[in-house]
Amino acid sequence: MTIHQTDVAIIGAGPVGLFAIFECGMMRLKCHVIDTLEMVGGQCTALYPEKPIYDIPAFPKVMAGDLIANLEAQAKPFEPVYHLGQQVTEIEKCGDHWHLRTSTGTEIQAKAILIAAGVGAFGPNRPPLEGLEQYEDKSVFYYVKNREHFRDKELVIAGGGDSAVDWALSLSEIAKRVTVVHRRPKFRAAPESEALLKKLADEGVIDLAIPYQLHGLKGEEGNLSAVRVKSMEGEEKDIPADMLLPFYGLAMELGPIASWGLQLETNHISIDPKDCSTNIPGIYAIGDIATYGHKLKLILTGFAEAAQAAHAMRAYIHPDQVYHFEYSTTSGVPK
Ligand code: FAD
Repeated sequence: MTIHQTDVAIIGAGPVGLFAIFECGMMRLKCHVIDTLEMVGGQCTALYPEKPIYDIPAFPKVMAGDLIANLEAQAKPFEPVYHLGQQVTEIEKCGDHWHLRTSTGTEIQAKAILIAAGVGAFGPNRPPLEGLEQYEDKSVFYYVKNREHFRDKELVIAGGGDSAVDWALSLSEIAKRVTVVHRRPKFRAAPESEALLKKLADEGVIDLAIPYQLHGLKGEEGNLSAVRVKSMEGEEKDIPADMLLPFYGLAMELGPIASWGLQLETNHISIDPKDCSTNIPGIYAIGDIATYGHKLKLILTGFAEAAQAAHAMRAYIHPDQVYHFEYSTTSGVPK
């Protein structure tokens, strides 16, 4: 069995992990990158590839999927090695390096570990409905990967947050019918989006089933025909549906990371924002998973942390080398 050797093992290939490859590359550090998902991009690819992001510097508007494609291209000159579809399950300190093992048996020796694991092993919060499994990925979906998949369909969207409201607004443009099921009159979405939803409901473009909760699924062999909902008073009714999209947020589990002895704060890793170091020398954390006072959980924050961490890891890995700071305009992209 090959044991891969590298300078930095990056756990998580979300936007922040991808940008860290570039920043490490600028410090002449080689990276291996591991992700549980089969593709790079983290939340951007898995949850909202076709949504526009508006707060990435110098991109007035960029689709999440395109942002990831650009980050991958920016990292490419540094020849990162990706190990996708596998979770880092164990890390062990062996002398002056770290030994990582993944769920598929890959072994990597790294001089430093950079954890960019986002919300950890993420998955959707699933509604407790009988027989749900047989419908999942056939007519029950937790993500919209391709909006066209929902064209001309009767959709039930459940939830009261931004995802539920945004997708109800967006999919109402192409679906045959959209019904939003929410258990209380007040939504947790952006006020403008909520106002638009209510306006479209008044105009009869979108149906609202409020205050109702999902209660059951009707259909055969994974193909939905109706969603049964129940009011707080116990009244039940069926909403005809080809597809159900429950948007109940992400289940956030740190997974194996929780047992590595890192200082945690409510499911996040505490870091020193000065250099993104954790309580364990040689382990750094950036992006959504890393926390400190006044942390803003944004992609752009993670990008800046990637630069901080790369500089710190260079100093950790090569303590004897004197470093001369250079702008990328001066250094170019080192080979
Ligand atoms: P993630 O994108 O979560 O990626 C982490 C990766 O680590 C995942 O792929 C996961 O599989 C992997 N991982 C975890 N544990 C392990 C392990 N043990 N082994 C291997 N792999 C592991 N932010 C903005 O700045 N602007 C926006 O407009 C915006 N809009 C958003 C809209 C939606 C609908 C959502 C859900 C989020 C939005 N965000 C936005 C937030 C943004 O997506 C996150 O801040 C960003 O994805 C964090 O990047 P990350 O690389 O830290 O983590």
